[in-house]
Parts: sequence; structure tokens; C-alpha cells
Amino acid sequence: MEIPKIYPIGEKFPYGAYNPIEVEKRIYDFWLKSGFFNPDKLPGKRKKPFVIVLPPPNITGSLHMGHALNSTVQDILIRWKRLLGFKTLWLPGTDHAGIATQNIVEKELKKEGLTRFDLGREKFLERIWQWKEKYGNIILDQLKKLGVSCDWSRTRFTMDEKYSLAVNEAFLHYYKKGLIYRQKRVINFCPRCQTSLSDLELEYKEERGKLWYIRYPLKEQRAKNKEQYVVVATTRPETMLGDTAVAVNPKDKRYKNLIGRKVILPLVGREIPIIADRLIDPKFGTGAVKITPAHDLTDFEIGLKNNLKIIQVIDENGKITKEAPAAYQGLSVLETREKVIADLKSQDLIEKIEDYLHEVPYCYRCQTKIEQIPSWQWFLKMNNLAKMAMKVVKEGKIKFIPKNFEKIYFDWLKNIRDWCISRQIWWGHKIPLEGVEDVLDTWFSSALWPFATLSKKKDLERFYPTDVLCTDRDIINLWVARMIFSGMEFMKKIPFQTVYIHPTVLTREGKRMSKSLGTGIDPLNLIEKYGADATRFGIAYQIMGGQDIKFVEDNIVMGRKFCNKLWNAARFILLKIPNSKSQILNKFQIPNSKLTSADKRILEALNKTIKSVNKDLEKFQFGQAAHKLYDFFWHDFCDQYIEKSKKQLQTSDFRLQTSNILLYVLLTSLKLLHPFIPFISEEIYQKLPIKNKKKSLMVEEWPSAS
Ligand SMILES: [Zn+2]
Repeated sequence: MEIPKIYPIGEKFPYGAYNPIEVEKRIYDFWLKSGFFNPDKLPGKRKKPFVIVLPPPNITGSLHMGHALNSTVQDILIRWKRLLGFKTLWLPGTDHAGIATQNIVEKELKKEGLTRFDLGREKFLERIWQWKEKYGNIILDQLKKLGVSCDWSRTRFTMDEKYSLAVNEAFLHYYKKGLIYRQKRVINFCPRCQTSLSDLELEYKEERGKLWYIRYPLKEQRAKNKEQYVVVATTRPETMLGDTAVAVNPKDKRYKNLIGRKVILPLVGREIPIIADRLIDPKFGTGAVKITPAHDLTDFEIGLKNNLKIIQVIDENGKITKEAPAAYQGLSVLETREKVIADLKSQDLIEKIEDYLHEVPYCYRCQTKIEQIPSWQWFLKMNNLAKMAMKVVKEGKIKFIPKNFEKIYFDWLKNIRDWCISRQIWWGHKIPLEGVEDVLDTWFSSALWPFATLSKKKDLERFYPTDVLCTDRDIINLWVARMIFSGMEFMKKIPFQTVYIHPTVLTREGKRMSKSLGTGIDPLNLIEKYGADATRFGIAYQIMGGQDIKFVEDNIVMGRKFCNKLWNAARFILLKIPNSKSQILNKFQIPNSKLTSADKRILEALNKTIKSVNKDLEKFQFGQAAHKLYDFFWHDFCDQYIEKSKKQLQTSDFRLQTSNILLYVLLTSLKLLHPFIPFISEEIYQKLPIKNKKKSLMVEEWPSAS
């Protein structure tokens, strides 16, 4: 497209290249002042609500590409629905992130040579609150740079006063209903964080370990000249100090005659039985395994069924307890492993050693190896809650997009264990029972997010259930499933109708982005370099169905070029149309007979674009919508029509009509593009000489197709 070389200086339009940094800051302030992020301040009647709750980022977090993508998607939906006349609420907030936040402040203390125990609970919590005041809102400020239209007047925090009340109420509700109980059970324990962790809070790492085959001598030898053994295979020989049985599968013919007999536990000398249990995999090792009920979740269950003794040989610091023989007491787990192996070897009790690749659990917050130990903890009975959560998805009341993510959800709920909800840290919601020092799992409070956040008078009535939840696949079970049963339990209603699981942003090579490996991309750098609109458009452009995104910066560059194209086209049109008395004609007011073939073509193409963008957005096809808008605006409008219009504008018969069509198509394009590139579309809108202009493009009317 040819742009006139010399521009007259006018107040109407700041001529020159588009400068996103200046525009974006000014426009965001303008939006904030308008109040239109707040559903109560939106103009017009707007009866139907459309509500999204922002997945609350941790107060320890900073913006990464996953947030940028997720927030772009949510803002596209909210802005689109706002233009469609909905009473839109996008509720923001942050999560106190129990263990993660406590760890950060503990690290700070460590630099001063202190631990949390030196400070004591009260002083330590004061420190965390100070930290929160200082850094806790950084991530929300970063989101603002992306242009998100959240109602900041409703910002919530999972530990603010009202929210904490809701958490206490929820706990007491379950407690009175008999769904919460305290029990000494084997749980996952992080020796560094000194707290229990749920199964979902573990991170598995593949490790090259060993599989040790150990001989357990039978108590009564059948043949006198040759000692007889049962050989068990294990990856953790040190836990044998706490063995209370050897188990085989009841169908395993090799061991049929041994069930019920006894072996002598080497190094300890304890007599332990050989039992049969269906949980034993006959293909693992020799088919016979050692059972340590105190230090393995499955062994614990087998122990309960078979009335086995629970002997705790590893303590909460990862050290060997007094239950073990004196030679091992006080040693670390690794030291014990070495000593046990050496001692077994000296007694010729090791049959063989194999290399073994296995998955080892680590703490997801501090990357320390997890120990499974028996501990008194609080549990929430999951059976009925899980059934309720499965039912509403099965019945289609809640839909997952893409649908295949429902499998992850059902798989977890079908095989669910009771939820260990207590944590032995200090930062969080203290269990509201007298004398209890534990706090609740951080996910216990996030599970209440869709309704505990709606605390203003009448908000709950008006805005619950919410409409769409946009989130990451990693937290379908940690968070989404728990919000669903909490919503059903406390509100008797689903918390949202649609769960949109967004694609994961990977590196160009298709690997996970990692801050520590330096392969992450900071969206704030992209915004600074190309502008928020270009960043948003480039991200949305790459969302094609459920496929993960191999991120390349080229798409953001493309977004930048597209914004410039839009800017230049608008500049051209504003130069060409009459300055005064400009108004926009509804295209139907132009008699069809008067339209040129170019006019007809662009109006038809526009009509088609409106239809397909609507369809795409309804199906969460953000990439498709962005592609169509791009093609329409760049090719149909700029390359074709604007070129044709130059001649038409020179003919007196067509001048007015052509300038009206130019303005009409530009305005309609701005509305369609606004959800994707809100800043530049608003900036141009503010300069259009049109009748009945709204205060902001945000509250214009979404175009309808004929
Ligand atoms: Zn830890």
C-alpha cells in the first residue's frame, strides 16, 4: 500500500510510526479511569453475566510465557463478550502458595544465619507478610502490561480476611460431616521442608539405580546340608531394617509352598512371615518382595490388611531411628544403604545386583528426595466427593476443551486416595481446631477460588457459577478437580461450565521452557521490544487446537508488522475521508445498485470474516480467528480494496460512498481485532470521526453478520 509521503501536521492523528510503549501506558490508564473493567460500571442494560476467575498466580511468581498465553486467551474471551453486551467480570487475585512462599523467606533468613525456629512462629509469619507486601503483587502488575481487563477493585488473596473465613468454614463443614479424620498413616514427607506432601506435590525424576537381590534365610531349613533362602529384589535395601513381611502374589506357583512359612530378617534377626497379596507384581525381580509398612504407601496398605507391625526406622530428618539395630542408628539413609550392602555382602547374602532405571519422587518445591514415613495427619475422605466430581463431567454439565483432557481427570478420580490436607509448615490457614498447629494444604484454599472470591454483597448471586476456566494441564487434578467437588459440596452448583486447557508453550525445539536452563522466554522482554499487542497477537496466532506451541519470536515480529499495517491503513483512511461532518453509513443504507464490484467484494469478505471469527471464538479456536482477521485485513482490505479506493475517491460519484465504506470497514475491523490487539485498536478508534462514538472501543457493539 502506498502511503502519501508528506503528512500535514494535524491534531487529529499523531503522524509517525506507531509507538506501542507510549500508547499502551496511556491507553491502560484511560481504561482504568473508565471503570469499564468493573461489571457494575459498564454502560447499557447488560443483564447476562460472563465471568472468568483468573487462576491466581503464586505471590512468589513472575510472569512466564504460560501466564502470557493464558492471560491473552482470557482477555480475548472477556473483551469479546464485553463487546457482545455481557456483564463481564474477570476476577483477579493471588495465591499465598504455602510451601513455596515459606521456602523463599526461609532462604532469606538463612542469609542472616537464622532459621524459622530461631524466630518462632509469630515473628516468622510477620516476616512473610512483610515479604508479601513488598513482592506479592509484582505478578499482577506484570499482567497489566499485557493489557488484561481484570476488575482490579475485586482483587483477592487466598489469605485475606474474608477468604480465610471461607476456608475455616469449609474445613468445619467437612469436619462436622465426618469427612475429616486424623490418622497415623504413611505419607510423603519432605525432610527439608519438614512437611507432608500429597501425591500430586511430588516430582518424579528418572534415575539410574540398582536392584539388589537379597537372600532372606528360611527359618526352618528343609535340607540340613544346604541353607535355603527366599530372594527378594529391592531398590531400597536400607528400608529392610523395618521389614515385617515378605510378600508374593497368591497366583505365583513358584512360591505356593512357602506362603505361611517364616524367614529370618538378615542384619536384624527378626522372624517375619511370608504372605500372599494380590498387589504384588510377579514380574518384578524374583516375584518375592520385602514389605516395609512404615516406609512405603503400598506396603502400608498391605500391612493394614495383614495386621503387620509398623516399624519406623527412618525419622523426619531422614535419619535411622532407635527401632533399628544399634549399628545403624543415627545414620543417614544413604550411609545406611552403604552399610547394609556391605554387611550383607560380608554374610554372602547378596545374590546379584542389576542396573535399574526407575522414577524417584522429589519435593516439587525444593527438589529434596521424598521419604515415606508414618505420621499423624489430617485426611479428607474423597470417595463421595470424587463421585460427585465425576458425575457432572460425565453428564456434560462441565465440558473440557480439548475433550481428551477429561481422561486425566477421570483416571485420577477413579483411583483416588483420601486427601492428606495437613502440612507441618507455618505459612497458610491454620487448621481451625483447638491445639492443632498444622496448616492446610495450599490447594485446600485454592479449591474454593470460584466462590470464596465473590465476597461482595450480591456478587455470589450474580456471578456464580462462572463461565470459563482457562488453565494449564498440569493442575487438572491438583486444582480443577478439587474446585469442581468443592463447588458441588458448598454451592450445590458447578463452579464453571467450560474448562479450557490451553496449549503449553515450548521452546523452538519442542522442549519445556526452563528458567534454570536459560531456555525460558520472558514475555516482558517481548512486550518491551514489540509492544503488548504484537505479543498477544503473535501468541494467539499460534494457538491451533490443542497442539503445543513451539515458540518462535518470528510470530511476534509478524504481530508487530500487522500492527504497523493497521496503523498505516488507518492513517491513510483518516487522511482521505472528509474531516467535518463525517459519519458512518450503515452499509445497508447504500443502495446495492450503486456499489461497485470492489465495494461488494469487500463488504462480502467482511461479512464472511465476522461469521467465521464468531464461530472460531465460540470453539476456542483463537489461532484460526487470528489468521482470518489477519488475512482479511491485510489482503482483502489493504491489498485489494484500499488500492481500488484510490481511484474511486477521485470520482465525485463515488467519493462519499467510498470514504464511508473505508471508514465502516476500518471501524468493524477494529471491533473484531480489539480482543486480540486492544491498545492499538482503541488508539485508532479514539481518532475516528464517527457519529455516536462510545467512550471506549471496549464498550462498542460487536459487529453482527448479515
Ligand atoms: Zn521440600
